[in-house]
Amino acid sequence: MRGDLHIHSHYSDGLYSPTEVLRRAKEAGCEVVSLTDHDTFDGVDEANEAAKSLGIKNVTGAEISSYAGTKVHILAYGFNRLDPRFNAFIKELKARRRERAEKILARLADYGMPIPLRELDSCVSREISRPHIALAMVRLGYEKDFITAMRKWLLHGAPTYVPACGVSPEEAVEQIRLAGGLAVLAHPVRIDLDPYEKTALIKRLAAAGLNGIEAVYKRSSRATVKEFKELARSLGLFVTAGADFHADNNEIIARPQNNPIVSL
Ligand code: AMP
Ligand code: MN
Ligand code: MN
Ligand code: MN
Repeated sequence: MRGDLHIHSHYSDGLYSPTEVLRRAKEAGCEVVSLTDHDTFDGVDEANEAAKSLGIKNVTGAEISSYAGTKVHILAYGFNRLDPRFNAFIKELKARRRERAEKILARLADYGMPIPLRELDSCVSREISRPHIALAMVRLGYEKDFITAMRKWLLHGAPTYVPACGVSPEEAVEQIRLAGGLAVLAHPVRIDLDPYEKTALIKRLAAAGLNGIEAVYKRSSRATVKEFKELARSLGLFVTAGADFHADNNEIIARPQNNPIVSL
């Protein structure tokens, strides 16, 4: 069976609507998918509708941003969307994301690049990510393109970089489990820790209730996939596969001219 359990839509920083992204997934041969937008499940209803009419399965999903000295993303699957505690948790994550965006905007203004909040307003009901800010910078003429804006100003090491003030990954795992969901470590290959620290983190999370590892991730080498599969097996965790799709060219997350969130 073909599937992709890690997909973004314009409810976070993806280019397409859930309907369009699922249509593409089906076209690519997927029978089971999961829409996993950053810190939100607002697109899940639309994804379920689309899945139904396409005759495929959408697993209820979200990608939770957490922080353990470095960014650690936890995929949440099959949780109860009506769970009040989980809803409060997601609300808190959205508020933190918003606060972080405001801090980034304040720093950019200090560097002579003011971005009025209304530039981002069209995505407020969805979740503001750094890509939205990068696109606003291009629109306002501060940088020539998206990647330059990200690298020069928004990614780790940049002068106006603001670290995510996320919850710990242990807390993310706990909240997902309490809402009846399964917690999976997203793209372990992208966690910025040395191999020893990374294995220690994964063992800690396994002890805290982690269920699985996204060992199969876009562009991972065979050796990397094998390494995480073996680690998963040794810890009694299952393995998932995800493309982390945002747009056709995954380097460019959103194109302002087409994106309903970011075109104003
Ligand atoms: P945020 O959620 O605000 O921390 O923004 C992170 C998002 O930026 C990720 O989900 C990616 O979609 C995107 N991103 C992270 N690193 C890069 C990069 N090096 N180049 C382009 N996009 C990136
Ligand atoms: Mn993203
Ligand atoms: Mn991620
Ligand atoms: Mn993702």
